[in-house]
Amino acid sequence: MSTAGAETPTRVPGFVDLQVNGGFGHDFSSDPASIWEVAALLPRTGVTAFVPTIITSPVEAALAALEIVRSGPPAGWVGATPLGVHLEGPMISTHKRGTHPAELVTSLSSELVDRLIAAGPPLMVTIAPELEGAEQVIRRFVAAGTVVSMGHSDASAAQARTAVDWGASHVTHLFNAMSGLDRRRPGLAATALIDPRVTTGLIADGVHVAPEMLQLAFQLKGPDGISLVTDAMAAMGTEDGTHQIGNAEVKVEGMEARNFEGALAGGVATMDHVVRTMIASTGCSLAEASAMASATPLRVVGQAADGIDAVNLDADLRVVTTEISGRVVYERGTS
Ligand code: ZN
Repeated sequence: MSTAGAETPTRVPGFVDLQVNGGFGHDFSSDPASIWEVAALLPRTGVTAFVPTIITSPVEAALAALEIVRSGPPAGWVGATPLGVHLEGPMISTHKRGTHPAELVTSLSSELVDRLIAAGPPLMVTIAPELEGAEQVIRRFVAAGTVVSMGHSDASAAQARTAVDWGASHVTHLFNAMSGLDRRRPGLAATALIDPRVTTGLIADGVHVAPEMLQLAFQLKGPDGISLVTDAMAAMGTEDGTHQIGNAEVKVEGMEARNFEGALAGGVATMDHVVRTMIASTGCSLAEASAMASATPLRVVGQAADGIDAVNLDADLRVVTTEISGRVVYERGTS
């Protein structure tokens, strides 16, 4: 990458992260009001727009997050734009809940769906499509304009394909917390990879998904089918140590965050790190990685790139400046 005259940064569209649970010490699920504070700090990671994500939580947390984003930022606020709210759970598989609290995972409920739609609607929901009543719930969300993403799911490939027929269009963090690629019992991951009607999120942080699996995803889905995400938790942007995510404590060491059972508990990597990891793992070009970090995630949530949000990267692909609406909101070394 290094060339003579590398002082001139490379300008790419601002990063768009569809799955941010928190960061810089704040956790959206336990403190939805911190969304604006975290959003103000995200430009230092190259992020210009994002989707605050509430994991399986009491319904009040989801309703609060929807209200906070809907009411808009405090006066004078500058930061990455929250595009809407992603509700990841609680209608997920108990077998694939990962670190989501077991006691709050629920079956599909039209009453809950109606409440969430009335309060938002959410920009995106992650549900397990094999749950009883999925067709009605998926069709209801899609009619309300919500992107239905399949995840935290034990669905067979066939169940997932049927859910795509009903309107599901995305997959949450491919390979993590889902039925996989067993030769005789293919699961959600198989449909995610081979069905051109779905796009998929991918945590390319070098911890959640092995480099070979990042390559597999890239070769099958291409840059138009993958949305790179951080799945960032409260510890992103903070020091190693013990942190809170949802109702659970997690221990952070380097790029890994684990709960007390030793399971991965969300991402600690920043979006610029994810972009570098995807390039290093797959050999894709910066243009391709940039598409997966910006144009594709925007398209997943029905938005077009406006060309006025940008990130300028040095020869090592580290963030030099970040621009939102044509204005520099972050400059390395100044904040
Ligand atoms: Zn998850």
